[in-house]
Amino acid sequence: MAYDTNNIFAKILRGEIPCKAVYEDEFALAFPDINPQAPVHLLVIPKGEYVSAADFNASAPPDALTGFYRAVAHVAKLAGVADNGYRLICNIGADSRSEVPHFHVHILGGKKLGHLLGPPVAE
Ligand code: AMP
Repeated sequence: MAYDTNNIFAKILRGEIPCKAVYEDEFALAFPDINPQAPVHLLVIPKGEYVSAADFNASAPPDALTGFYRAVAHVAKLAGVADNGYRLICNIGADSRSEVPHFHVHILGGKKLGHLLGPPVAE
């Protein structure tokens, strides 16, 4: 799948759409999910153009991989969920119902979370 430079997170990275950044460095940007599913629901995205975790993990250079995943852990600490625990979610492809084709990690926490998968969703 080719990277779509008009996806919403690409626009956020270019500053064309606002976000309330909670963390930014050379590798990653973190901001609240617009439709939160938990008291803490942040998204962390890499600065580079990767359509999914599969693409990022296979293609990103080592410094980008290390920098990004360290930023995810750092953001969880900043959000105050590191001690009690949290969930990371990466949706990849159609069956996961991924909506935005720019790699992102969801950080969910701030309460006891439900089971890993929610109830089935009609097609
Ligand atoms: P996914 O289904 O894993 O692709 O998740 C995409 C997420 O992006 C969803 O949870 C949306 O609520 C979230 N989202 C979409 N647009 C925005 C936006 N402008 N700012 C913050 N979060 C967004």
